[in-house]
Amino acid sequence: MTDIAPIHSLVAQVMGDLGSPDLLLPPGADPHDFALRPSDADKLANSDLIIWVGPELTPWLEDPLNALAPTADKTALTESVLWTPIREGDTEDGAIDPHGWLAPFVARNWAIEIGMALSAADPANESTYMANANAAAEALGQLNVEISDKLAPYSEAGFIMPHDGYRYFEDFHDLSKAGVIADMHAHDPGPSHMGELRDLVLSGDVTCVFSDAEIGENWVSVLIDGTDVQTAMIDGTGANLTPGPDLYPELIRRMADTFTDCVTPAS
Ligand SMILES: [Zn+2]
Repeated sequence: MTDIAPIHSLVAQVMGDLGSPDLLLPPGADPHDFALRPSDADKLANSDLIIWVGPELTPWLEDPLNALAPTADKTALTESVLWTPIREGDTEDGAIDPHGWLAPFVARNWAIEIGMALSAADPANESTYMANANAAAEALGQLNVEISDKLAPYSEAGFIMPHDGYRYFEDFHDLSKAGVIADMHAHDPGPSHMGELRDLVLSGDVTCVFSDAEIGENWVSVLIDGTDVQTAMIDGTGANLTPGPDLYPELIRRMADTFTDCVTPAS
């Protein structure tokens, strides 16, 4: 069992022909705020191994995991020793930013962690899992170079993000946002913060304000009303993509395309 579509995709890559993982949240669902359905509870109860990002992303999932799948093996990727998380306030004791899959560089390390989790749960197939994990990591390394090259000309672009869940995408590719509508957990913004962002939009230093599944277009409309600032929905969870091994690279390439289109002023 996996939590969100991008992680499902990485696990599918590592399982290869040995099987296919289950997926809890539909592609494009808001992971910060989701209500489990009875069928989801059944899926959890039938799981032997659960690979999820971790309680920092889906705090509502922690109790059901323990209650419904008490004996299943569980791997929270935020607990992996193979990565260095970005933290709130950039201090060592700050809260972990869980959106690590949004940088292929991090996904590469998580693929190895996933290989180790599958091998521990099913030792007979360890060599296949680890071979697949290494192949996935290699491809993710190439994807990282491709995306870094594509985004390199945009390091000066002025843009506003919908919620503070894209720092891996931004930081690993040298992008620097002018502002962000909502915090890391996608809580709705307050009026004074919206006023500051509106001033930023009116200053002319911003070419695009993004929305996402967590922070919808209504917030953005208020900010860009009456200006020629552009908007687009950025998708970090795989909305409208088909779950499976190919979803992850498609998601990342689509994010990069959405980004470059929206920050480029209309001619
Ligand atoms: Zn988020």
